[in-house]
Parts: sequence; structure tokens; C-alpha cells
Amino acid sequence: MSSFPLSGFATRAIHAGYDAKANDGALVPPLHLSSTFVFETAEAGAEIFAGEREGYFYSRIANPTVDLLERRMAALEGAEAAVATASGMGAITAVFWSFLKPGDEIIVDQTLYGCTFAFMRHGLARFGVRVTHVDLTDPANLEACISAATKIVYFETPANPNMRLVDIAAVSAIARDHGARTVVDNTYATPVLTQPITLGADIVVHSATKYLGGHGDLVGGIALGTGADMRQVRLVGVKDMTGAVMAPFNAMLVLRGLKTLKLRMAEHCRSAAAVAATLNDHPAVAAVHYPGLACFAQHDLARRQMPGFGGMIAFELKGGYAAGVAMMNRLTLVQRAVSLGDAESLIQHPASMTHSTYTAQERHAHGIADGLVRLSVGLEEVDEIAADLTQALDAEVRASVDA
Ligand SMILES: *Cc1c(COP(=O)(O)O)cnc(C)c1O
Repeated sequence: MSSFPLSGFATRAIHAGYDAKANDGALVPPLHLSSTFVFETAEAGAEIFAGEREGYFYSRIANPTVDLLERRMAALEGAEAAVATASGMGAITAVFWSFLKPGDEIIVDQTLYGCTFAFMRHGLARFGVRVTHVDLTDPANLEACISAATKIVYFETPANPNMRLVDIAAVSAIARDHGARTVVDNTYATPVLTQPITLGADIVVHSATKYLGGHGDLVGGIALGTGADMRQVRLVGVKDMTGAVMAPFNAMLVLRGLKTLKLRMAEHCRSAAAVAATLNDHPAVAAVHYPGLACFAQHDLARRQMPGFGGMIAFELKGGYAAGVAMMNRLTLVQRAVSLGDAESLIQHPASMTHSTYTAQERHAHGIADGLVRLSVGLEEVDEIAADLTQALDAEVRASVDA
């Protein structure tokens, strides 16, 4: 462990868990690519396998570079422990496979990332797990339907793609009263904007592909929680059930990304607030979903739960889906691509892309409008991001006048 007094977020993001003296003085942690680790004696190997002695033995279970990322992320989320995974879906699936058996129920929010929805609705449900979708934007809805069979309550806040928020403390308290674990996908907010475990949640999952890595050059994930829960996720969910272990090289890239996470999030928040206001004022735009706007339905909860409102915006055009496609095709700076949280501003259409795992009826029932466009506001000059969107939207107004 580092000997620095680690109190502030940015200091922890740069130093937590690392001691240069123990690594030949290397300022930057070494990258340990080794898949296996040598035992001093056969007996020592047996003791490490039995958990009676500390030590690495095989990188599907633990690796020093991945281990450092896990300890650093735990320090940022206020968790006891963490398990890094090959992708966000690797983290989510490993958590669910670790704690569920046939006959159990999970209660999940209406709005979920597309592959999370598919995993639950079309995956877990086939193995005898009852999947109940509840609108968790009102915690009373959870109180009304939670039962002794409910083992996990799961949600995203802000939710991908429509930005709905969930009151983490209120929902976690209800779940705890009924003996269920609360699992929060914190990909959108990052620990800079919310630390669900400090608000009462049991487990946090992330797509590290997004803001944590922050540079669009890796796919990764991480789960965080108590030492006991993470031991289960590591030794059952990841080791035996998914095998979705994070590569050491990717751990090194995420460690590098974390050093600037606080700085990047501050700029993402500032720029997204300005872009949301620009969109909100534009005559071609029907609705903007951004927690920082006073007109956002859950603006009060946003102000209570988040010190900043994030870099993601969802919006709908008056001309619906066709107008959205035409607008996206006119953009020159903002890139048409899925994923989010990168330095580059990215725009995509959930109904035909990230959330096409939902049927049209499911999207309708789950509050994902077909015309919704999702924008990840990047780190370019904010005036230039806004100008690109404005020219694409102005052309939309001219097109509708001509029509
Ligand atoms: C991208 C994403 C995931 C999945 O993460 P991968 O790294 O792509 O597997 C899960 N949840 C949310 C909210 C996401 O945006």
C-alpha cells in the first residue's frame, strides 16, 4: 500500500494501492503479462490454492496489474473489494451468475442498457429466474412488489439511453429491508458523480469501456462490493461461470484513464450542460433529457444525488426518427458511433443500435422512444460541438419549411 495520506478523490485516483518502493522505484506501475506464477515449493503452491497463503497463481483468478486496478477502483467507489472483467457485460453477468438459482426473482428497472436487457429477459429467464420489470423512478413501486423471493434489485442511474434517474438511497433501503441485494450500474455517473455503495447499494458494476477508460481504446468492466461478495464473484461468477477476466494490458489502460477521470468528468459535465441548453433552445428539438436542465422531470433528485449531471444527453426531434437520421448524417465533428465517455463526441440512435435488443413493443413499454437520439458529449471545444449540432438542426428546420 502507498504511504500517502489518501483522502481526496483525485489523489486516490492517481496513487491508491501502489507503492513505487516495492516495484524498483517505478513511478508507473509495471505491466504484469504473466499468465501463471511460480511456486517456491509444491507445498507453497498447494497452500496458495487452498487459500491458506497469499499469492498469485493464475491470471484468470488474479494478476498484480489487474489487482492494482481493483484496489484503486474500490478506493474510488468506497467499496471493500472489486473484480475487474473483460467487459461491462462480463461484470454484470458474473454478478448475476454468482448469486442466483432457479426460482429466485430479480426486480429490474424499466430502462436498461440493451444487452443487459437481453441477458435478463432472454438469458436468465431461460434458467428459471423470474425477471420483473418495475419503474424504479418511484421507490413506492418497489415496495409494492418486492417479496421474499426477490434476491437482486438492479438499475442504472442515469439510465441508458433515456437518462431516467433512480433514488439510490431510497431503493437500497427497501431492498435491504427485504433481504435483497441492490446492484447499480454506475457507468453513466462514474464514482465522480455518485458512489452508490456509500448511499446503501451492495454492488456496483461498470462498463470500464466508457468513462473509466475514457479513450475508446479498450473494452472492460468491473464489479465492486463487500469482500465476501467479491470473493463469490471472483471464484464463482468469473473463475468458473463466465471466464470473462480482464487482460492485464487493459487494466493498465484503465489505470491510466483513472488518473484524469475527475478532470475529464468536470469538463464532460460543463460541456454537456452547455450543449443541452443549446439543444433545448432549438426549434427543431421536441425534448431534451438532461438531468441538469430545470425542465428535467427528476431535476430535484439530480440535484440531491449528483454533484454534476454527467456528459450524456438524450433528445428527440419534432420530425421524429426520420429527422433524427437526417440530422445525424449532417454532422461533421460529432461522430456517428455507439459507446460513450470518450474524448470524441459520439451520437447514435438507440432504437436501431444499442437498444435494438428490445422489440418495438418492448421499447414502447420501457420508455425508449423510437425517435430518441443519444449524444455523448466529448472533450472537444464546446462551441464547436454546439455549432456542429446547430448546423445539422438548422438544416432540419429549413427542410421542414421546404416540405
Ligand atoms: C456499455 C454499457 C454496458 C456494457 O458494457 P460493455 O463494456 O460494452 O460490455 C453496460 N451498461 C451500460 C450502462 C453501458 O453503457
